[in-house]
Amino acid sequence: MSEPILVNVTEEIVRGLVSFLLRGPEYQTFCKCQTCEYDTVALTLNALPSKYVTSLESRDEAFKMMNVPENIELINKGIIHALHAVSKHPRHKVEPTSL
Ligand SMILES: [Zn+2]
Repeated sequence: MSEPILVNVTEEIVRGLVSFLLRGPEYQTFCKCQTCEYDTVALTLNALPSKYVTSLESRDEAFKMMNVPENIELINKGIIHALHAVSKHPRHKVEPTSL
């Protein structure tokens, strides 16, 4: 048995997808500051069921179960919704220079 861990697999997936989408061609005009990125992740995660696991084995199993096209598509929809909400009402203090 590996050391116990406590992670939300949904969070892991959403963080990865948000980071990926923000760096892709479709979202070039969206702010990439840490505030906006975290706000997008938080907003997305608040609308999704969490999936907590306590071992690496169950983390891998949950990741495999969740990392299927139908589910990723559903999560992506939530992220895109959140991206638009955040870009409409950004919390960053200054107008960011292009990053
Ligand atoms: Zn920002």
